[in-house]
Amino acid sequence: MLGQMQDRPLLISSLIEFAALYHGDVEVVSRSVEGPIHRYTYADAQQRSKQLAQGLIGMGIEMGDRVATLAWNGYRHLECYYGVSGMGAVLHTINPRLFPEQIAYIANHADDRIILTDLTFVPLLEAIADQLAEVAAFVILTDRDHMPETTLPNVHCYEELLAAQQGDYAWPSFDEKTASSLCYTSGTTGNPKGVLYSHRSTLLHSFSSTSRDVLGLHSGDTVLPVVPMFHVNSWGIAYTAAMCGAKLVLPGMGMDGASLFELLDGEKVTISAGVPTVWLMLLQYLRDNDKKLPHMDRTVIGGSAAPATMIETFENDYDVTVVHAWGMTEMSPLGTICTMKPKMADWSYDDRLAVKRKQGRTVYGVDMKITDDDGNELPRDGKAFGHLMVRGPWVTSGYFKAEGGTVIDDDDWFDTGDVSTLDRDGYMQITDRSKDVIKSGGEWISSIELENIAVGHGEVAEAAVIGIAHPKWDERPLLIIVRNEGSAIEGPEILEFMKGKIATWWMPDDVTFVDEIPHTATGKIQKLVLREQFADYKLPTA
Ligand code: ADP
Repeated sequence: MLGQMQDRPLLISSLIEFAALYHGDVEVVSRSVEGPIHRYTYADAQQRSKQLAQGLIGMGIEMGDRVATLAWNGYRHLECYYGVSGMGAVLHTINPRLFPEQIAYIANHADDRIILTDLTFVPLLEAIADQLAEVAAFVILTDRDHMPETTLPNVHCYEELLAAQQGDYAWPSFDEKTASSLCYTSGTTGNPKGVLYSHRSTLLHSFSSTSRDVLGLHSGDTVLPVVPMFHVNSWGIAYTAAMCGAKLVLPGMGMDGASLFELLDGEKVTISAGVPTVWLMLLQYLRDNDKKLPHMDRTVIGGSAAPATMIETFENDYDVTVVHAWGMTEMSPLGTICTMKPKMADWSYDDRLAVKRKQGRTVYGVDMKITDDDGNELPRDGKAFGHLMVRGPWVTSGYFKAEGGTVIDDDDWFDTGDVSTLDRDGYMQITDRSKDVIKSGGEWISSIELENIAVGHGEVAEAAVIGIAHPKWDERPLLIIVRNEGSAIEGPEILEFMKGKIATWWMPDDVTFVDEIPHTATGKIQKLVLREQFADYKLPTA
């Protein structure tokens, strides 16, 4: 027997419709690319999103067409989020930090029909325009006064496009499983691959995000996503903020400490979200300028592991609760979030900190397990570590255009490529990426743990560990170090420092020094490049 409740589709347009109706006076504040701070309301945002939808329809865009953006976090980008997906087209948010050839590749792979771009990225697009033959038009996200001289073909001015529309547009209704947006993973290996979200997956992810045990976003919050809208939909915040009517503050290209502080303080931001590197810069600015964050309640840190010192500094010096989170493009992105359980309330700070360093506990809606190389499930004891597998309604079932082939097993489990522990309360701790873990004599060594210990040495600026082929053990760890400026530290001193902090068989077989460690567009160490660079390296123990 079927239930009798209404089968109304979960659509992204309903988010902005709701925000405009019931939080119509709530502000969206943006640092514009042109310079000044821009303010308007959710009611304005919906009106202009509808004008954009009309403008795109006028340019020939139909349901399912891909419409791309190259843009910072700002109000016009927000209008693209709702205008494009709302009319049933697919919003493809391109990461402008990718190499130009990669941008051309993904724009072509996605069959982007129109690219909407901030002024900043016009030169970048001009340089690859001849490779973008299928793109019918470029829309520059600015007004007539700021339109640049450009060699781009078929150029439109965004404000003129909007001004020509009435905005008397009703959001269409369609199947909630319709594709809504497309985001390519930055591709540490091979070509970038597209993750195609649906309206349904986006809405379910948003419901989860707003719940108290997850981001807990609510109408009393003012949220500033530092995480870019071209990086997994700013971790979904562009949607969740509208779902709960939170005031939204968009930092544009101002990611430096001073610019961020101006908005955090001036707009009385209560919650923010970003990767550790951004917070390092902000903390440095606060320290140097003797500033505090009196309005801020919590900050979400993810994308890479939040260092313990960062958590302690935010909590003890600035009274801002750190919420560590983990996820990935393939998961919309949220998988775990490190909120405390009641039984931890009277634990010592150090014990609580040990929990906070974990990537967090599993959110409702995501199934999670860890397995060994043969696919056998490992115990949830917080000690065993294995391949982290996930499934759920906001986890991908495969990449766009079947790139990379089948990526889930018969029971829908998706291999995250991360290696982790899991405990009975659902807390997950990443120990490595599966392709980076070092397999020594059939046992696994966590490269991340070795790196974390090495960077604890005062003269080490950055550390990376890779496995080097070994005749007896299969692989043994090589520690690659960037010294602090002026330091002349040598390998034996670093190894001495690491002694006793790990099992003896985890100790690196050798230490080598480089001027620079290569990073991906999202700031992660490119181990693949390092492995190529050190392919012929001979360990002294071999
Ligand atoms: P890309 O960096 O390629 O754009 P994602 O942003 O999807 O891809 O990155 C997802 C990966 O980032 C995860 O699989 C994990 O390895 C890493 N990651 C994300 N959050 C954390 C975290 N809190 N701690 C450690 N690693 C993390």
